Amino acid sequence: MIELPDVERMIDGIAGYTTGKTISRVLIDDAEVVDLEVELAEEYLEGHAIDSVERHGRYVVLRFRSEYSLVFDMGDDGRLRLESQTAPPTERTKIRLQFAAGRELRFSSSGSEGVVRAVRGDEVSDSGALEELGIDPLSEDLTAERFAALAGDNPRSSLKGFLMNEQAIAGIGNDYADEICFQSGFRPDEKVGNLLPEQLHRVHRYLKRVLRRATLHWSAAHSDPGWLINSRDNGSACPRCRHELKSMRVTGRKTIICPRCQRAA
Ligand SMILES: [Zn+2]
Repeated sequence: MIELPDVERMIDGIAGYTTGKTISRVLIDDAEVVDLEVELAEEYLEGHAIDSVERHGRYVVLRFRSEYSLVFDMGDDGRLRLESQTAPPTERTKIRLQFAAGRELRFSSSGSEGVVRAVRGDEVSDSGALEELGIDPLSEDLTAERFAALAGDNPRSSLKGFLMNEQAIAGIGNDYADEICFQSGFRPDEKVGNLLPEQLHRVHRYLKRVLRRATLHWSAAHSDPGWLINSRDNGSACPRCRHELKSMRVTGRKTIICPRCQRAA
């Protein structure tokens, strides 16, 4: 599942090349999932430059200088990458944005509905899922106070379910939710309403720490023997205490915990 740090990495890989560049041609490979009229693409995307590449939770927004934007839902396995125009599209290719120099920005995913949409620039935040999207966990707006207030709105949710609730906090998926629970030392199935204010404060601190590190130092984080994310395989030992890790289901998702290091509130 694509999570916020993965999307940040993808944007890092494409923003430098694409920002300010003009799209010469738009090729729609899967009209079922690309909500974009050919006429609109011809008028507002072809011949226009990309103004910026932004992330909203797990969504990527390409803003054009024509005031139109393309919104990509990265879903479980979406991928935006630069390719040569000579590389043939695959079954997963949804749309290709070509530049004059022979490269193209290609979006691929296994998604089967509404994964790419064109919207007018000022309507981006009102469009579909983005309208309902919660606060970005890396934004300065997610203060400890705001986090505690959101938790107060979801007292009956499990801690993991709350961290993954896109309408509250946008962009945290299965693996990073487990990592945040592990690093902060709480059980993912603990009810949010049972956590004391200082315990919520602690979860908030580790949420920021885990996501910042995974975003800014992805390789280091993903080779750190102290991180649960690198020991998720069944039967692995806890990176801290070497006790056997346990696999369980929380909110219907595979969840890895250390029964010794992670406690009830
Ligand atoms: Zn442990």
